[in-house]
Amino acid sequence: MKSAFIYSQELGRFDFGHDHPFKPERAIKTHDLCLRYGVLNHPWMEVITPKPIDPEALRSFHEDHYLSLLKEASMGQFSVEMLSHGLGTDDNPILPGIYEWSLTTTGGTTLGADLLASRKADVAFNPLGGFHHARRNHAEGFCYVNDVVIASLDLLRRGLRVAFVDIDAHHCNGVQEAFYDEDRFLLISFHESGETLYPWTGKETEIGEGKGRGFTVNVPLEAGTDDEVYLEAFQGVVPPLLSAFKPDMLIAELGADTLISDPLTHLRLTNNSYQDVVRILRNQCQRILAVGGGGYDVYRTARSWTLAWSILNHVEPQDEFAGVVGGMMFGPEHEVGSLRDRAHPTTGPIKDKALVQARKRVAWIRKHVFPLHGISSPLEQPSRTVQSP
Ligand SMILES: [Zn+2]
Repeated sequence: MKSAFIYSQELGRFDFGHDHPFKPERAIKTHDLCLRYGVLNHPWMEVITPKPIDPEALRSFHEDHYLSLLKEASMGQFSVEMLSHGLGTDDNPILPGIYEWSLTTTGGTTLGADLLASRKADVAFNPLGGFHHARRNHAEGFCYVNDVVIASLDLLRRGLRVAFVDIDAHHCNGVQEAFYDEDRFLLISFHESGETLYPWTGKETEIGEGKGRGFTVNVPLEAGTDDEVYLEAFQGVVPPLLSAFKPDMLIAELGADTLISDPLTHLRLTNNSYQDVVRILRNQCQRILAVGGGGYDVYRTARSWTLAWSILNHVEPQDEFAGVVGGMMFGPEHEVGSLRDRAHPTTGPIKDKALVQARKRVAWIRKHVFPLHGISSPLEQPSRTVQSP
């Protein structure tokens, strides 16, 4: 087995509440779409059901007191103190079973990390992973337990060098905080600027501290950023850093809340640049653990994750139901028949501002961070975008 799709229908059925934007069912839709498009039936692929992680492992990152409160919340109990730890808010409601659910979603990510570390797989994908906002003693941003941090700490303990590239629209504040002074963990986050989006952090000037200086890289992007602007910035930052850092494995947080239709964010990407980015990452690193992260347009998120899984496995989706009347439909009717979005460039002053700001931030990183990795030529222009097939 070389490729693991980590999936449980039961986890996908967990309900954050009707009005809550986080819908675990995206994982079920992604699994169904992967089956429909014939990208989950190759001999080197395996669908693996995750198991709960040993609760003791959560203590590698989270504080005991926070974990006790989380357990109580999971049993439906509420105390005012929970609020000061982010439990019982609109974003992170008290949900019966949330502790057990978090044990298994975290178990999915650590399973993926373990398969890669032990070389039983080169690619693993946990669509119900990527809770990058969870803090040591605080739930926030729909995240209760930080699976990325817990899996990464274990990989570092095994002596592995880990790169984490996060393309979710939100800055990965919880992960950044955990590894801010670490030089064996390279964090690169592309996200909507904290001037317009939670968690309000992730400026380009946040670059790590102590021996970790230069190992945190943030690329904040303006509201309205489109495929062209995004790809130029990504190309200018990520390949040189990954080539210099030479990670043993890459964890990729493939949040699809950057898409133009996402109800919570203000970036304007299509899944065309999203695919290009996944392709760049795939070409940069042999061992990749992908985690889902955000994505609040359920159908377009499922389509994007299906495309990501295909690219990670070098397979081409084929619609087995093409032309069949009454086949399964995903998303608005006019787009049925393709997983890929139409091009949707931003124009006018919004585009100009997005481009100017992105170039400014990339130039700053190339000037101040690249030399810390021994990468020269900060004056060289970033290379242009790659093309979608
Ligand atoms: Zn997000």
